[in-house]
Amino acid sequence: MEVRTRFAPSPTGYLHLGGLRTALYTYLFAKKYGGKFILRIEDTDQEREVPGAVDLIYKSLRSAGLDYDEGPDVGGDYGPYIQTQRRDLYPKYAWELVERGGAYPCFCTREDIDAARKEAEAKGETYKYDKRCMHIPLEEAKRRIAAGEPYVIRQNVPTTGKASFDDILYGHVEVDCDTLDDNVLIKADGLPTYNFANVIDDHLMHITHVMRGTEYLSSAPKYNLLYEAFGWTPPIYVHLPVVMKDASRKLSKRYGDPSFEDLLEMGYLKDAIINFIALLGWSPKDTDNEFFTLDELVKAFDEHGLNKSPSIFDMTKLTWFNAEYMRKLPFETYYEKALPWLCKALDPEKFDLRRLAELLQSRTEVLNRLPEMVDFLAAMPDYDVALYTHKKMKTNPEVAVKALELAKPVLEGISDWSEASLHDAVMAAIPESGMKNGQVLWPLRIAITGRESTPGGAFEMAYLLGKDETLRRLDASLEKLKNA
Ligand code: GLU
Repeated sequence: MEVRTRFAPSPTGYLHLGGLRTALYTYLFAKKYGGKFILRIEDTDQEREVPGAVDLIYKSLRSAGLDYDEGPDVGGDYGPYIQTQRRDLYPKYAWELVERGGAYPCFCTREDIDAARKEAEAKGETYKYDKRCMHIPLEEAKRRIAAGEPYVIRQNVPTTGKASFDDILYGHVEVDCDTLDDNVLIKADGLPTYNFANVIDDHLMHITHVMRGTEYLSSAPKYNLLYEAFGWTPPIYVHLPVVMKDASRKLSKRYGDPSFEDLLEMGYLKDAIINFIALLGWSPKDTDNEFFTLDELVKAFDEHGLNKSPSIFDMTKLTWFNAEYMRKLPFETYYEKALPWLCKALDPEKFDLRRLAELLQSRTEVLNRLPEMVDFLAAMPDYDVALYTHKKMKTNPEVAVKALELAKPVLEGISDWSEASLHDAVMAAIPESGMKNGQVLWPLRIAITGRESTPGGAFEMAYLLGKDETLRRLDASLEKLKNA
C-alpha cells in the first residue's frame, strides 16, 4: 500500500505556525514511508476565505521546502485539488447517502434553527437538531426541491449506540451517538461543509493517513459513521495537539504571534524554523541531538515520538536555534543574507561590510537585529562616561583620559590603516606607559563606539570607522571626559 497524506488548509489567511507544523509532520510521514504528500485547498466556507491566501499557502510551503507531489498548482491524478472546483461531485455522494438512509434533506430555515437553539439554551440544554425533516417522505422532499425550495442535506446520526474511531496518538475514541448532532453535509449554496468534504475527498484522493489538529478529534467518530455508511475504509488518524504561546493560550496571530512568513521576514532562517517546529510536539528516539535538516527529519521521524500534550512555542529557543544555524552557514551565504540588513544602517560605499559581516556572523541571533548592532558606526551615539569604568579591566574615566592621550598620537602616525597596523602600533606603545592592555583598549573602544558591546574589539572598530572618523571620535571623547 502506498502511503498518501494530505495537508488540507483553509485559505483563511497566512500560514500559522501550528499549520506549518501539521504540514511538516504530514510531509515527514509521507516521505518516511516513501509515499506521497498532497496539498488540498479546503475553501468551501467562502465567507471565511481571504483573497490571496491560496497563493500564500503555495509560497509558504515552497519556502519551507515542503514540496507536495500533488496539488492545485502541480496537478496529479486525483484532482482538482481545490474543493470549490470539485463542487459538482459532493451532492452526488450526499444523495447516495440519502438513498442509503445515512442522510436526509432538511428544509428548516436558519430562523427555525436559531429559535430552537435559543429555546434549548434558555432551558440550559445543549442544542441538537430534532430530526424533524427526517420524517418527510423522500418523494415529497424531492418534489419540494424540484419546486425550488431551499434545503440542506444533513447527516442522519443514529440515536442509539456508539460511534468510534482509532487514533495513533489518542487510541480508541468512542462517543455515544445520542450526544451527536445531525451535521449539515451540503449547505443551501450547494457546497459541502468540512464535515462532508473531508470524508469524500480523503476517500477519493486515496488518503491513507490523516494528520490534523485535535479540534477534529471529537468529530472524527461522526465522520467514521459516514465511512461506514458508504462502506469505505477510513484513513488512519493522527490528531495533533495545539501549539500554545504559553500555559494559558494558543499561539495566535490575533495576539501578535508571528506567522511563518513573519519569521522569515524578521530574518529567521527557514532551516532553523523547520528544525524548531519539528521538535514542538515530537522528539527523536535514542538521541540527544537537536539538530536536523529536513532530510534528516524524514529519516528520524517516527509518529510514535509525537507528544499528546500541547507544546509551547518558545521564541527564545527558536532564537537560540537560529543563532546556531547562522554560525554554521558558509560565510558567503551569511554575507549575502546579512548585507541587506547592514545596508539599512550603513552606507556600503563607506564601510567594509564584508569585514563587518565576518565579525558579526558568530554573534547574529536574528538578522533584523543587525542594524541596531552596527548603527553606532554610522553616527557616534551619545553615551555615559560611566562606561569607562570597568572593574576587571581596571579602568575608569581618569585612566581613560591617559589611555586616549596615549593612543591619539600613535593612531595619528599610522599611514596604512589596517587592523594589523593598528594592533601592532598601539600594542607597542602600551608597555612603556605602565598601563595594562585592557586599561587602554577598553577606553579606546568606548571612546570611538560609545557602546559597551560591539561586534569586535578596538582595532576592528577603528579599522571600520577609518582614520579620520576614529580620530574625530577620539578627540570628542577626550573632550567629553575632561568636561565630565
Ligand atoms: N481545512 C481544515 C483546517 O484548515 C483542515 C483540517 C484537516 O486537515 O482535515 O483546519
